[in-house]
Amino acid sequence: MKKGIHPQYQQTTVTCACGETFTTGSTRANIRVEICSKCHPFYTGQRKFVDAEGRVQKFAKKYGLQI
Ligand SMILES: [Zn+2]
Repeated sequence: MKKGIHPQYQQTTVTCACGETFTTGSTRANIRVEICSKCHPFYTGQRKFVDAEGRVQKFAKKYGLQI
């Protein structure tokens, strides 16, 4: 591979909206995500950031769920 042509695959830091950071392999220097395994309700069983924007309520209302 010629240097400078191909993106360099490297360890990069992923920053979540909840403040959680973790490292992963990527060609991008920094990655920002809105949700991660630490704050996703599927993993935590709690409602935090998703609730803050009312998405869960909208979803629940749409499908007539009680949460
Ligand atoms: Zn998170």
